[in-house]
Amino acid sequence: MPETVPPDLLDLRSRIQSFLAALPDVGNDDVPADLAEEVRARSREAALFTLLQPRSLGGDEAGPLARVVAWEALAAANSPYAHFVFGPRPGIVARAEGPLRDRLLPAVLAGEKRGSFAFTEPSGPDAPPRPTWARRDGDDLLVTGRKSYVSGGATADFYGVLVNVDPEGDRPAGPAMLVIEAGTPGVTMDRRFSSLDGGHHVSLVFEEARVPAANVIGRVGDGMRGALGNITDERLELSATSCGIAMWTTEFVTAHVTATHPSGNRLGDREGVRLRYSDLRIETYAARAMLYRTARMVESGADAMNEIMATKVFTCEAVNRIVDTAVQLVGGNALISGHPLEKLYRRVRSLRLAGGATDVLRLNIARGRIEFESGTL
Ligand SMILES: Cc1cc2nc3c(=O)[nH]c(=O)nc-3n(C[C@H](O)[C@H](O)[C@H](O)COP(=O)(O)OP(=O)(O)OC[C@H]3O[C@@H](n4cnc5c(N)ncnc54)[C@H](O)[C@@H]3O)c2cc1C
Repeated sequence: MPETVPPDLLDLRSRIQSFLAALPDVGNDDVPADLAEEVRARSREAALFTLLQPRSLGGDEAGPLARVVAWEALAAANSPYAHFVFGPRPGIVARAEGPLRDRLLPAVLAGEKRGSFAFTEPSGPDAPPRPTWARRDGDDLLVTGRKSYVSGGATADFYGVLVNVDPEGDRPAGPAMLVIEAGTPGVTMDRRFSSLDGGHHVSLVFEEARVPAANVIGRVGDGMRGALGNITDERLELSATSCGIAMWTTEFVTAHVTATHPSGNRLGDREGVRLRYSDLRIETYAARAMLYRTARMVESGADAMNEIMATKVFTCEAVNRIVDTAVQLVGGNALISGHPLEKLYRRVRSLRLAGGATDVLRLNIARGRIEFESGTL
């Protein structure tokens, strides 16, 4: 349970809370670049910046339970500074080897280079004839296809792209996670767009883009495993973020329903309001219990892929219900542009698709039990 984490993690949680509370109040506005830099510098001094970075490169390499505590605490503060507290994480580059690792990993951790993850393919009538593929040409791969939803792709230095390498003689074939540098001839952005949560994305087109086969992360054939490893960690983060937002929202509504209402008494004195308010507490409690149980499983080294999917589905859907109910209880003010609940309402909607559509995860959970006998109750 969240309250029985080890003392060092309770300490981490309160350090993050105090760190954010001590920052200047910019309201709900965007953080100017100089202030963002100051937050990063202060975070380094407070020994928080390197929390999620690998130990081999000077980081603290927080384990799964510590990461969950940190992500949840960050989201529970609903702070505009959240993006700047922890330093960049290696993402797919963590599994790179040799010169590719030397070239990218230190630069990524120093914030000098940034990668985007290109996995999702277009669906519907515009979909290409087959998922993004690569054919070998000497020591290179020629990549063709499209990726439809690449977050941060407009300013990325490179993309981690899942491709399918065609069979050729006895050379390895199958899914591969490939690093493709931005600006590589044959790679174009055909669309830039933003989503209602405020995120910026692009879709990418590859037309026989020539990429050294040495840019494959891991081995040709195991790309799906690498991509899923990345997505699994993202799902745990989205779950912890959902719980943090649920906590912040429940506290916000608590303050609202216990304050004097224009009618003269408190909204929280009305039985109907209490029923709705209780739902916020029940769902937040259940979501956090699930999150911490799963985090402990991951911490113990168990294969918790199914439990992480279940947690992601439940927490992301719960926080959508929670924020929706909060808007209803706070009333029309909550829908005014710039109100914290208006922002959260837009933000939480994307959580049910990012990291995997919830119904698709449901199918995978069923498949895990029915076809692979995996998954815990
Ligand atoms: C904010 C945000 C950021 C994102 N960032 C990235 C990123 O950086 N990189 C990246 O690669 N992707 C990213 N995505 C894409 C995200 O992973 C996909 O949107 C998600 O996986 C769903 O895929 P899709 O949009 O292609 O929908 P589809 O796969 O077309 O599915 C649409 C809907 O159809 C239904 N559905 C589909 N298949 C089934 C089925 N078999 N059974 C039942 N129902 C089904 C579900 O309701 C599903 O929601 C991001 C998405 C969002 C919202």
